[in-house]
Parts: sequence; structure tokens; C-alpha cells
Amino acid sequence: MQGGTMTVEKAAAQVAQPHAFEAKGETRQRLAQQIISAFDNLARSGPLGASVGSVSMRMSGTDSILVTPLVPFVEELTEKDLLEVTMSGRIMRKRGRPSFSVQMHLEIYKQRPDVEAIVHSHAPAATVLGICELPIPPVTFDSVPFTDLPRVPALASYDGQWAKEVSARLADGAPAALLVNHGIVTVGADLQQAVRRTLALEETARVLVLCHLLQQVPVALPTEAVDILKQALL
Ligand SMILES: [Zn+2]
Repeated sequence: MQGGTMTVEKAAAQVAQPHAFEAKGETRQRLAQQIISAFDNLARSGPLGASVGSVSMRMSGTDSILVTPLVPFVEELTEKDLLEVTMSGRIMRKRGRPSFSVQMHLEIYKQRPDVEAIVHSHAPAATVLGICELPIPPVTFDSVPFTDLPRVPALASYDGQWAKEVSARLADGAPAALLVNHGIVTVGADLQQAVRRTLALEETARVLVLCHLLQQVPVALPTEAVDILKQALL
């Protein structure tokens, strides 16, 4: 099936639209480079951790997304490994194995037309916020966009129902969600924003976890400052 899809695409491109096919290939390559660079950046910065995660982007002008596959180590990922998946879940170019989170990425894109990129990670400190049910008060500039984050409880299986639950909790425009027992997911109008939100949420979590370790109640920002920052940062 997969080979057949490619053959039809190639034939149509060569006969009728050579430039369109080339443009799509170039777009895929450009997006793939951006995703691998972000994946690498997140791994070096810490949030992806040892158990990795997944990064995706919409492929503009198509009904598909480009998403990282299941990989044991970030440094092993190449552009050719990325999966092109349609909104209905059909994998157009399959080399790597899809990760468990692909369905979640698709459901979020369906729910949120404003989202162009998604990062899912098992960021350790942010994961603690979810499993220990810690609140996120506005204690730093980084924390302000995340004070009302939705929290998605774990289900018996991470199937389509769980993916729909995650997307439903993000429906009101939230920048991220805490996936209890399963890390976090951040969204963005572009990949840079989704990555930046992952880094900022993990940084916020580190600060809050340190406060708890010190058994200190952190001082919150003044309400007026929070309102101004919310408008500037969200
Ligand atoms: Zn995961």
C-alpha cells in the first residue's frame, strides 16, 4: 500500500506537476531539519531525558504532519526516519516505528487550528508537578503562562480515547498540558514557540520543586505584574 502511494505520487508529479513535487520534497526536508534540530536541542537541554519524546509539525498545504518516530537514542535520528502521517492516521512514508504519542499529536492538530507544532516530552521536573499534584503559582516570568495548565489523568491504555482527552483539555487555547504519569505536551504557533514553552515549563518546574525540597512557600509575583506578563507572554 505504502509503495503504491509513493508510485502514484511520483508518477503524478513527473507527468503533471514536477515543480509541485519538488517543492513538497524541499518543504519536507526543511521541516525535517527543523524537527531534528529541535529534538537535538531539547535532548541537550534536558527536557527530553533518557526516554526521549516526540516532536511534530504540520506540513503546510497538505493534510499531513511530520513527526519523529520511536527512537531509542536522539543521536540516531535522521531526516529519513521521520514519519509523514495524514490527519486520519495513515502513515505515508514509513521507515521508523510510530511512537505511542502520534495519535495525541493528530487529535491536538484537529482540535487547534492555531497550532503548527507540538512537543511531547517526559521532562522530569515538569512530570513531578503532575504526579505530585503540585500547583503552579506565578513565581517567575517563565511560570506565568502555565499557572492554569490542564492536567490529564492517566488512563488504562494510551489509545485514541486518551488522545482525545488530551486534545479536549487543550481546546480553550492552553499553551501546554501536564500528562499525569506521562510527562508534558506543549503546543506552538511555530516549532520555536513549542520548544520554548517546553524549556520554560521545565524551568518553572525545577524552581517549584526546589522550593518544595527547601520546604519554603515561594513568593508570588504581584497580581498586576501577572496580568501584564500574561498579555505579553501568552
Ligand atoms: Zn511519552
